[in-house]
Amino acid sequence: MISNLNGDVPRQKGKLANDVLLMERRQLKKEFTVLGPVDTISPRCQTFIDKFFPNISYREWNDWKWQLRNCFKSVEDLSRVMILSDDEKLAISKLKEANRLPMKISPYYLSLIYDSIPGDPIRKTMIPMMNQLETSSNEESDPLDEIRTSPVKGIVHRYPDRVLFVVTQFCSAYCRYCTRSHLVGKPHPLTRAEWDTAIDYIDKHEEIRDVVVSGGDPLTMENSKLEYLLSRLRSIKHVEIIRLGTKVPAVLPMRINARLLTMLKKYQPLYFSVHFTHPREMTLETCRACNMIADAGFPLGSQTVLLKGINDKPEVMKDLMLKLLKVRVRPYYIYQCDPIPGSSAFRTTVEAGVNIIEHLRGHISGYGVPHFVIDAPGGGGKVPILPNYVVKSDKKEWLIRNYEHKVYKYPNEK
Ligand SMILES: *Cc1c(COP(=O)(O)O)cnc(C)c1O
Repeated sequence: MISNLNGDVPRQKGKLANDVLLMERRQLKKEFTVLGPVDTISPRCQTFIDKFFPNISYREWNDWKWQLRNCFKSVEDLSRVMILSDDEKLAISKLKEANRLPMKISPYYLSLIYDSIPGDPIRKTMIPMMNQLETSSNEESDPLDEIRTSPVKGIVHRYPDRVLFVVTQFCSAYCRYCTRSHLVGKPHPLTRAEWDTAIDYIDKHEEIRDVVVSGGDPLTMENSKLEYLLSRLRSIKHVEIIRLGTKVPAVLPMRINARLLTMLKKYQPLYFSVHFTHPREMTLETCRACNMIADAGFPLGSQTVLLKGINDKPEVMKDLMLKLLKVRVRPYYIYQCDPIPGSSAFRTTVEAGVNIIEHLRGHISGYGVPHFVIDAPGGGGKVPILPNYVVKSDKKEWLIRNYEHKVYKYPNEK
């Protein structure tokens, strides 16, 4: 018998209960074949559930709160479902003493990697390795200077007309390369009073027309809390658009349900900034979540961090961008990885990013080509980096080259 991961003894089910469970699962498998609207479960997840959570129903699996309660957080948790390398085990055990982001993986997201080998791209983003515990001299815990550029707790006001509002420090899965690793997973959540102070700041600053609600992951909050926040922001006259920064469609896709979307619709115009890393994340569940968001009328943009050995090959990034377009997510940014402590294992060169853009522009729909940016260390904001398409320019004419490296002349004189 497999006990559940929080160590409780699972509910004993009698024969009858088991039969009901099996029937329910068969029913859901049927629904899956016609993409049933309520309980989509991919074959991969079905196998994972049948193997490691035989006592739960698919309905429980599709309950996002069940997912949050059953996150994998320790060597013991993971060892129940997968074989860890010695390096991974040692790294997990040293996270605390090295003052690193804790480990946390939702059961859904783990189902993508439980049968992988060490070095698997998605696995590396979630399960720490010893090379991430070294800090090199050019790394800092808050490279974007968000603490110093924060006028009140939770707000980063870097650009003239928009702010970043960090509303929670909680996520359903912690990415090892997280730019806010100095903050997420920490035990001091923002209080209601701190939220109110932040909202007052936005209210007093009439130049703010765009609020990026991020964290942590705002979609890990209860609907009621999220709605409090959104209704307060929406009641501010000068706030024109609101964005939700979230990785939920990739790591907790069951969170995207009709009730959430119906609530969010009241606060349009609302954009989704969704974090994706690798084409293997584009599962049936995740694609369904993205399509539901798009069907509900919210524009979706993706943000991807360029990561060494994970998505730094042009073919991998191209595959991801094309898969995103198919579910109506517009690739928005590829970020050069921020130099947080331990990130040298993840960081690649700026040239690798430029090379990716070179392989996208002209080769795939322009809608699939994001901006490649460096968030300038020290708080300079996002700076776009492009391959050089200008061969020569002067008052008379510009010599430009295309994606095939053919050179063309544009008459600059009028
Ligand atoms: C990324 C970011 C924004 C939003 O920038 P856009 O280029 O408009 O997407 C706003 N504030 C901060 C602090 C940010 O890091």
